[in-house]
Amino acid sequence: MENCVFCKIVKKEIDAYIIEESNNFLAFLDIHPHTPGHTLVIPKDHYERFLDLPINLGEEFVKIVKECSLLLSRALKTKDFTLGINEGPYAGQAVNHFHLHIMPRFKNDGGKSIHSVVFNQPKESLEEIYLVISKAKQT
Ligand code: AMP
Repeated sequence: MENCVFCKIVKKEIDAYIIEESNNFLAFLDIHPHTPGHTLVIPKDHYERFLDLPINLGEEFVKIVKECSLLLSRALKTKDFTLGINEGPYAGQAVNHFHLHIMPRFKNDGGKSIHSVVFNQPKESLEEIYLVISKAKQT
């Protein structure tokens, strides 16, 4: 897609530190790393969101995420990671080309768990929310 920074990386119009590549995916270092080895995994074709990613790419996607994680694990001597997707603007997605963040984690690195991303406690009970979801499942 024109003017998409990640499409430009795929087309090699912009440089990136590419660490893994498969037929349909590319993994490269985030330009503003939050941890050493902070990596982004993207599809080569332009899909805006995770929900747009075709199901048939699922296995290849999981494979490259695992390969990157194992590579980073060997290189940076850690087995711990935070994996995350900012899906849409309310979740903080800034680049509208689907990407998964892989953030290697280290002892006493000052970071928190994924629970610290948001704390918007529901007013409804779990049962009420569950009923809303169950109704949606029937439509
Ligand atoms: P998000 O908020 O999930 O959309 O994050 C987008 C990420 O893309 C940010 O962490 C940016 O630092 C990263 N980013 C933006 N431009 C580039 C680039 N040219 N090369 C590598 N990473 C980039």
